[in-house]
Amino acid sequence: GAASSSTASREEVGRATWTFLHTLAAQYPEHPTRQQKRDARNLIDILTRMYPCGECAAHFKELVGSHPPQVATRADFSLWMCEAHNIVNRRLGKPTFNCSLVQSRWAGLECGEDGADACSLDF
Ligand code: FAD
Repeated sequence: GAASSSTASREEVGRATWTFLHTLAAQYPEHPTRQQKRDARNLIDILTRMYPCGECAAHFKELVGSHPPQVATRADFSLWMCEAHNIVNRRLGKPTFNCSLVQSRWAGLECGEDGADACSLDF
């Protein structure tokens, strides 16, 4: 079982991946370069093929097909990530999240406390 082995469950991998994705979106540049936009789209596209739960990856591919990633600004990408997560939440019968609160739930690693200035810069 999960407690007695190092095998990650679908739920654990899901939580870890959403933490990664929302944190990454919170730290995405306000004014991304073309390369940064390409990177964001590629990351999502790769997840639709490589996410380590085949059924989840297949569903996510459909989701991304009907809701293409919005990568023009940090706000756009963070909102898109929240809405994508809500589509998955609905399919799993989980409560949806109020996306106007996404900035208070998630921050970039370098956006709080010590790194307070890092998130207002493009790096
Ligand atoms: P999670 O959904 O993992 O969320 C973690 C935390 O994020 C929540 O506690 C909440 O604080 C916050 N949160 C919730 N909603 C939002 C939101 N909309 N925006 C911002 N923050 C939010 N599981 C399946 O069984 N079938 C699937 O097809 C499937 N597809 C997935 C596809 C992807 C791309 C990913 C990353 C995960 C997928 N999962 C799937 C896993 C599933 O989404 C959950 O991660 C897992 O069920 C654990 O759920 P949880 O209740 O712990 O919270």
